[in-house]
Parts: sequence; C-alpha cells; structure tokens
Amino acid sequence: MEKEEIVRMFQTINRNICCPKCGAKYTFDNIKIVNSEDNLFFVSLRCDDHPPVLASVVIYQGKTNDSIKQAEITPDDVIKSYIGLRKVKSIKDLIYRKKTRR
Ligand SMILES: [Zn+2]
Repeated sequence: MEKEEIVRMFQTINRNICCPKCGAKYTFDNIKIVNSEDNLFFVSLRCDDHPPVLASVVIYQGKTNDSIKQAEITPDDVIKSYIGLRKVKSIKDLIYRKKTRR
C-alpha cells in the first residue's frame, strides 16, 4: 500500500462520510486505520462529540493499468460498507465475517 493511496482513501472518507449524529466531517486527525488485510481497510471515524464509528474501505490498486487507478474507491463503495458495518459489534467479528464470506 502506497502512502499516496492511503491519503486518497482519507480524502474520500473526508468528502463522503460524516458523523451520523451531527453531520460533522471527519478530518484526517479523526480517521484512524485500525486494521488492514490486503486491500481492505478497517477505519475508526471519530467525532469530537460522539462515539466513533467503524467503516471498511476497499482500495483497488491499478498497478499495470492506468485507467484502473482512476477508479480506486467510489463513494458508493464507502457508503455501502459504512452502512453495512454499523451493526458490527467488534473488529474481530468484522474480520471473521469478511473471511468466511469469501
Ligand atoms: Zn457527531
């Protein structure tokens, strides 16, 4: 994972996800990567006034094809994952489920 891609992931989160309680945007300081597996990242999003939420982000890397690079994370992917994972109780539960689903 290249630093540039991590930064782009943070930018995408910042643009597309906000606190479900108050609508505040998540600044880079409030986004923490809690775990990663290949191109799948679990992030904790912290609002100053509310409990953190978990989200998963998939990074699509385009190593050989420049056109794939443009695609990477779509807002829909992020939001879909975000909505789906709000019900997850713990990170372990999250990772276990992801592994068994594939
Ligand atoms: Zn909030």
